[in-house]
Amino acid sequence: MNSFNPNFKTLMGPGPSNIDPRVLNAMARPIIGHLDPQFIELMDDIKELLRYAYQTENPLTFPVSAPGSAGMESCFANLVEPGDKVLVCINGVFGGRMKENVIRCGGEAVIVEDEWGTPVSPDKVEAALKTHPDIKILAFVHAETSTGVCSDAAALAKLAQAHGCLTIMDCVTSLAGVPVLIDEWGIDAAYSGSQKCLSCPPGLSPVTFSPRAIETIRKRNTPIQSWFLDLSLVMDYWSGDEARSYHHTAPINAMYALHESLLLVRDEGLENAWARHQTHHEALKAGLEKLGLTLLVEEPYRLPQMNSVLIPEALKAREGDIRKTLLNEHNLEIGAGLGALAGKIWRIGLMGFGASEDNVHTCLSALEEVL
Ligand SMILES: *Cc1c(COP(=O)(O)O)cnc(C)c1O
Repeated sequence: MNSFNPNFKTLMGPGPSNIDPRVLNAMARPIIGHLDPQFIELMDDIKELLRYAYQTENPLTFPVSAPGSAGMESCFANLVEPGDKVLVCINGVFGGRMKENVIRCGGEAVIVEDEWGTPVSPDKVEAALKTHPDIKILAFVHAETSTGVCSDAAALAKLAQAHGCLTIMDCVTSLAGVPVLIDEWGIDAAYSGSQKCLSCPPGLSPVTFSPRAIETIRKRNTPIQSWFLDLSLVMDYWSGDEARSYHHTAPINAMYALHESLLLVRDEGLENAWARHQTHHEALKAGLEKLGLTLLVEEPYRLPQMNSVLIPEALKAREGDIRKTLLNEHNLEIGAGLGALAGKIWRIGLMGFGASEDNVHTCLSALEEVL
C-alpha cells in the first residue's frame, strides 16, 4: 500500500463540497495543544466568526466536535426531557431524523407532514400548536437537502413564539448559502455542518443556543443522557473566562480549517455570499432548461445551493449509470434522490466554494455530453 492520493473531483452533490485551497493549507499547519493559550485565542475567534455567520449575539455559539448529526443530537439531547412534547415538521429525510431524536430522548413527537418537495406549511403548524397547547418545542429543517426546499423559518419561529414554544432549527445546508438570521427570527437552538456552504472538511457542527434555551437546560429535572453532548460540561471548555477545563481533545487542525473558512465568509460578506449562490443557481437553472430538464421545487421555495432536477421518464432506468459516467469520465459528483425521491431526481449542489461559474459550466457541459 502507498499514500492515498485521490484525483481532484468536482463535488456538486449534497455535501461535502469542494474546499478553498486556503482552508486546506490552514489544516496543514503545526498542531498545538488544545489548552495552549494560542488555541484558546483561536477558539474565541471561531466563536466570534460563527456569531457573524449565524447573525446572533448568543454567547453560547461554538462548533461541536463531530458532524452535523451530532449538532442535531446536541440540540435535542439538551432541550428535550422525557415526556416533553415536540412538534416536528417533516418534509424530507432530515425532519424524519429529528423525530427519531425526540423519541430517543424520551419525548413525545407530534408530527406535521408535508409532501417531499414542498415547504413546511405554517398553517398546519399553527393548527397543531392550537390542538396541543402543551407543546414545548417546535423543530424544523430550514433547508431540506433531500429535496432542495427552503421553508419559511421566520414565519415558523413567529408561530412558536406566539404559542410559548422554543424552536430548534436545522440549518446544515442553509448557513452561508441563504439568509440565516438567528436573532431576528428568534430561534432558540440551531445547528449546522462544516462541509456544506462553509466549504470546509466534514466533521464539525456549529451550534448556537439562545439565553432562553440555556435557561431551559439549567432548569431540567432530569440529567442529560449524553455525557459528550451535555452542554453544561462542554460550556466549561468553550466558555469565555480564563479557567477552561479539559472536556475532550478538540480536533485541532479541523478547527484551523473552520477558522479559515469563516474568515472567507467574513471577508466576502454574507450578503455577497447569498447573492453569489443565487446568481450561479440561476445560470445553472437556465442551462438545465436548455437541456430540457426541469426542477422539482416551485420557484419561491428553491434553495440556490441545492438544485433538485426531475429525471425525465426516458432516462430513469439509466439514471445510476449516468451518475457513474459523470463521476468516472468527468470527475463530477452529483447526488442521487433519497427515500421517496430515489430514482426520480438528481441533486446538484452549488455550495460555498462550489457556487462558481466554473462549476456551472463543468456540470452543464458534462451533462450535455452524457445525456
Ligand atoms: C448533511 C445534513 C445533515 C447531517 O450532517 P452530517 O454532517 O452528515 O452529519 C443534517 N441535516 C441536513 C439538512 C443536512 O443537509
